[in-house]
Amino acid sequence: MTGAGASRRGSGGTSPARERADRYWCEWALLDAGAGPAAEPGVLVEVSGGLITSVARGTRPPDGAERLRGLTVAGFADAHSHAFHRALRGRTGEDGGSFWTWRERMYEVAGRLDPDSYHRLARGVYAEMALAGITCVGEFHYLHHAPAGTPYSDPNAMGRALIAAAAEAGIRITLLDTCYLAGGLGTDGAYAPLEGIQVRFGDGGAEAWAERAAALRAAGAHARVGAAAHSVRAVPPADLARIARTAREAGWAAAHIHLSEQPAENAACLAAHGCTPAQLLDRTGFLAALRPTLVHATHLTSDDAALVRGTGAGVCLCPTTERDLADGLPELDRLAGAPLSLGSDGHSTVDMFEEARSAEAHERLRTGRRGTLPAHRLLEAVHTGGHAALGWAAAGDPPAGRIAPGARADLVSLAVDGVRMAGFDPRRAADALVWAATAADVRHVMAGGRWIVRDGVHALIPDAAARLDAAIREVAP
Ligand SMILES: [Zn+2]
Repeated sequence: MTGAGASRRGSGGTSPARERADRYWCEWALLDAGAGPAAEPGVLVEVSGGLITSVARGTRPPDGAERLRGLTVAGFADAHSHAFHRALRGRTGEDGGSFWTWRERMYEVAGRLDPDSYHRLARGVYAEMALAGITCVGEFHYLHHAPAGTPYSDPNAMGRALIAAAAEAGIRITLLDTCYLAGGLGTDGAYAPLEGIQVRFGDGGAEAWAERAAALRAAGAHARVGAAAHSVRAVPPADLARIARTAREAGWAAAHIHLSEQPAENAACLAAHGCTPAQLLDRTGFLAALRPTLVHATHLTSDDAALVRGTGAGVCLCPTTERDLADGLPELDRLAGAPLSLGSDGHSTVDMFEEARSAEAHERLRTGRRGTLPAHRLLEAVHTGGHAALGWAAAGDPPAGRIAPGARADLVSLAVDGVRMAGFDPRRAADALVWAATAADVRHVMAGGRWIVRDGVHALIPDAAARLDAAIREVAP
């Protein structure tokens, strides 16, 4: 394969030997998707200490700089992941049923994992992400305890397994430690107790959840910890209010919640509480206090959407999962202006190009119109939008998701000389990325100044496919 053409310079991490800047000359680079769709020619990028130290446009390749042929962009943030769902890919398609019957298969996998097997599985999934250009993941984590709900000797053993897996795959992680207290919401307003596999998810109450999760705060330079509530189905209103207060005081990196993924959630919430799930988040202070990232937001009313826009809460779409689970279609035009991020969620595919493409493609099918979300805006969602949703854009943080001086040195280099990208027009680079590229076009990936993928091979886990295969076979239904 061409499109690589790279020497092996600059393959190190953060060792003292790398004080001198490494220099990369990009044939084409899309520096900041938010600024527009065009790629710049001849971009010289200098990297030192994990950060981009300088960016020069319109240069000729200087001696001593590694040439990155094709198109280089910033690393992607995958804002919503359940790593263990990857074990179901290619194994539920002919089952029929619904979201709720799929969930039973998902629970089978959840029932088989322990900290060691989850570590192996997540390491493989995060390696797959790295190979797709993802350099930061938001892991929505609720599989906390041993079967029967017994805490492990380290009550955060599962969360630490995920954080270690991300480190070994070379990507950053925001562990969104998730409060999950109830097995479901009845139309009578009663919350069902956790049962079966679900008892592994529960801490018994919001205070106990916060106390356990707080022990994960010092998680390493590649990791941050955020707060999540699973959904209004799984966390009663009083506990949502407690989480809002706790998380605000604790200063979590980010806050997330699943919202209105299925019509049944809306129906139960309306019957039980007389309001929609979004309105319940408003009543409990969850929206205003945390300005959370709302995952899915598929079945919002127009009033819900106005509420979301008014509070500054973000929305994370997971289009390939939402179609896999027959969730329905969000009305994206109602959400214009809300901060947007994208996630591969259940990992029916791990390809942020496909997530971006599908968000707009589904909207086209729904509305009969093209162009609700232009390509460069969709890329913004996987670049700066995703990092903001995962808490990597706080005051004082180096920017992430842009190729700019001072930004994190996260680079994704794609071949443009394969059949899929043949005809590549750099003036419309964003269009080509969203509507032509796939994860298979990614050749090299740098995360925090370290190469983690070279020539389409994971540099830290060269046998990533075999390891992921073995890890899935351990636990798959
Ligand atoms: Zn989810």
